[in-house]
Amino acid sequence: MSLATHLLCDDCNTVTALTTLVNLCPVCGGLLEVQYDLAGASPNLASHAAANRQQGMWRWRDLLPLPEGATEVSLGEGDTPLMAMEELGARLGIPGLLVKNDGLMPTGSFKDRGFALAVSFARGLGAERGFTYSSGNAGASFAAYCSRAGLDATVFVEAAANDTKVAMISMYGAAVYRLHYDSSAEIFDALDALARAGQHSFVNFVNPIRHEAMKVYAYEICEALDWAVPDVMVHPVGTGGGLWGAWKGFNELRSLGLIDRVPRMVGVQPAVCAPLVDAYENGREATVRTGDASATMAQSIAGDDMIHGGRRILRAIRESGGRAVAVTEEEIAEAMTLLGSAAVAAEPSAAVSVAALLNGREAGWLAEHDTVVAVITGTALKQPGAVLKVARPPRGDVRADAAEWTRIIGAPVFAAPAIHSATSPR
Ligand SMILES: [Zn+2]
Repeated sequence: MSLATHLLCDDCNTVTALTTLVNLCPVCGGLLEVQYDLAGASPNLASHAAANRQQGMWRWRDLLPLPEGATEVSLGEGDTPLMAMEELGARLGIPGLLVKNDGLMPTGSFKDRGFALAVSFARGLGAERGFTYSSGNAGASFAAYCSRAGLDATVFVEAAANDTKVAMISMYGAAVYRLHYDSSAEIFDALDALARAGQHSFVNFVNPIRHEAMKVYAYEICEALDWAVPDVMVHPVGTGGGLWGAWKGFNELRSLGLIDRVPRMVGVQPAVCAPLVDAYENGREATVRTGDASATMAQSIAGDDMIHGGRRILRAIRESGGRAVAVTEEEIAEAMTLLGSAAVAAEPSAAVSVAALLNGREAGWLAEHDTVVAVITGTALKQPGAVLKVARPPRGDVRADAAEWTRIIGAPVFAAPAIHSATSPR
């Protein structure tokens, strides 16, 4: 049974029931946050989750909001690998580096966590359609889960998204529109107006359910570490739903007595458009418009402003003792290459998690003994153009010729067996 109790407004504390479809606070238009009765949790919650026959995210259903009797809309999301990266870690001066690879989600990005939950929730309350705005990955995920759930999906996708990302949204069955705009602020105003007009929005934070699923990061990571807590968690930040949700999840585990502290939360953006870093470094509580979103290859997290001023993200970063880090285009390309060499294919906006670590020791915010979890939010296949840009081209062209291949591969490593073909003399 879900321990979720109600929605609470960030700004005016108005309580809203979880039994109706809402987006923003009906009184003041503020952001709504799901609240839980964690005191009612079973003392065996963690071991029940471990023993749950269900796979992935839904093992943690008690800690997620889902209407009574609602069934999960699932494509197999969650329980992505948490990989120890010994060599890469040693190279970066942090041998305790781990990568949480959400590029392995059903539609290739971490967005699947949020849409699995938000679409399940909405369908459980009778929704038949919805819309979202997307830089590309969210649109594909939303479209896929809506198809699975039987909901009509409309996606407004940034015109800067590559053709493959846009086509994937369409392939999953959604109505797609390319979105043109001058500043992210225009989009946020339109989104708020639509929500006030009663259109059901699935945009991060405007939709109060989506980011709740990102709490499961914390559950999966701490469970995999046998209920130890990483010192640092690094996450790319577009809207910041991943970082905020993870932070909430760690705090819940602490309230439940399963862990005794939360990691330092580190949010990463490309230096050419880093409203979060700008606000963090200047001591502001909210972001202001800054930077050029078209100047980075980290397209999935490129924005010159943040939804509701990124206030929640700034709070999570500051209260956890973390930081906001800007990374250059060169660092992003280097991180993609380093991750590739370590068998992890990350799109540019995902590789920023590792790009941020390149100078972390030097800058003094990382220590050698730190356990660091870098989240990879999307697979490299999401942005084929970037892969072509950073990967080495093929070494050459060859024919199917054994002698030529031997020259390329090098000397034989074992004694060749005596193979007699039908044409060999006996
Ligand atoms: Zn309010």
